Amino acid sequence: MNSTAQKTRRMFSRTKRMIAVAVVAAAALVAQQQTKLRDLKPGFNLFSKEQDVQMGREYAQQIEQQFTVVNDGTINNFIQGIGRRLASTREAQGFQYTFKVVNEKSINAFALPGGPTFTHTGLITAADNEAQIAGVLAHEISHVILRHSTNQASKAQLLALPAALAGGMLGQKGGITGTLAQLGIGLGANSVLMKFSRGAERDADLMGARIMNEAGYNPIEMARFFEKLEAETGRQGKLSEFLSDHPNPGNRVKAVQDEIRLLPQRSYTADAGDLSAVKAAVQRLPAAPKKTPQQQMQQGRGGGSSMPQGSGNPSDYTAARPSSRLRDFQGGEVTFSYPDNWEVFPNEQTREITIASKAGMVGGGIGYGMIANMVQTNGGNLDRGTQDLVNSFRQRDPNLQVASQGQRFSVNGYNAIATRMQGQSPFQGTNEALVLVTVERPQGLFFILFIAPERDMNTAQPVYDQIIRSIRFSR
Ligand code: ZN
Repeated sequence: MNSTAQKTRRMFSRTKRMIAVAVVAAAALVAQQQTKLRDLKPGFNLFSKEQDVQMGREYAQQIEQQFTVVNDGTINNFIQGIGRRLASTREAQGFQYTFKVVNEKSINAFALPGGPTFTHTGLITAADNEAQIAGVLAHEISHVILRHSTNQASKAQLLALPAALAGGMLGQKGGITGTLAQLGIGLGANSVLMKFSRGAERDADLMGARIMNEAGYNPIEMARFFEKLEAETGRQGKLSEFLSDHPNPGNRVKAVQDEIRLLPQRSYTADAGDLSAVKAAVQRLPAAPKKTPQQQMQQGRGGGSSMPQGSGNPSDYTAARPSSRLRDFQGGEVTFSYPDNWEVFPNEQTREITIASKAGMVGGGIGYGMIANMVQTNGGNLDRGTQDLVNSFRQRDPNLQVASQGQRFSVNGYNAIATRMQGQSPFQGTNEALVLVTVERPQGLFFILFIAPERDMNTAQPVYDQIIRSIRFSR
């Protein structure tokens, strides 16, 4: 054999080896990328699915009173047609969606828990094609499916929420939205129900892409439309309403592209409706009242603190004493007992709960009772957090003095500090004794502030000690 032939054969086999190496490397690269659809499921939630539905129904009634709901067949048929296609997909099962249009020039759409959706006419005007509108709606109903609103409210560490949802605290007056309003939760700007975290946004993008794909819309149009809104934001120097509610979780377009690669291949249909006819119908609508939807939604936010005021007799505190029979308070990650002759009241402003008898609440203050809450701190430093808390109580009541501080002990295995304070009681001619118990938690502090007339603290102390021993954390 001549050497040229040998050389050729050697080169050939080396090339084959190199190709093999390249194939292996490429396979490894593919394996490194995601190859399976990520499981998208609703997260931690204190609300039941039925409560999502009920809440959405109640809020939808408020919205329909505050916005001008469009009553035009061309526009409604078009949006409902898109909605039906999206709602019939496998991912979207489990909720009854409604698809209404409101006469609002801003580019937005929103979905309420449980399924009611509202599309602004401004979104129809701004979209380049039907798939972009479908994309926004698919994203919105993904928030419904993944129950992001109530998931966020559940994670907000509101002590009073579980009891309120159980109906034991506030009854059903004003419905579930009335109950939430008393806890400071509504649909207003920056509401925990409507302003989504980046993680929720990423998941709604991915699930929205799946829904679009199954419904025959090209999912990339969702990402393109969000990009378009971002470009507009740059031009106007002001975040569009939609992006302020639904922030970009980062690399939105690429994440959707990656997701599309994992989805079953489909041929996407062209527009089913006549978008230009629908846009013309929008142009013909009479002008809507000049209020921004955010202002309107803020107006829709219910209010009114449920704290009873001044019902106690300012000269007699005996009726306000705690019973030594205790019942349980369930506050999400914390449970503790409280006297069975006292009631739980949420405070809308401070988000604390007050537990007292009506006789213990005097002239807008608490003469006999307790206040509890979970507070977030940076780094969860017990001493520092306790000091901040004492300062905040002193700001509310300048008569408060620290009597003795720094008694350390432990509560259900967590470091705790008891701080004794003195003040002026709302019961006339009486000094007040207070014990602040702060407990170190992973995200901050849990506290209970015990209050009693100074001369009655000896009576109250054994009950307060029992309450402290009853504190349990579940997470
Ligand atoms: Zn969103």
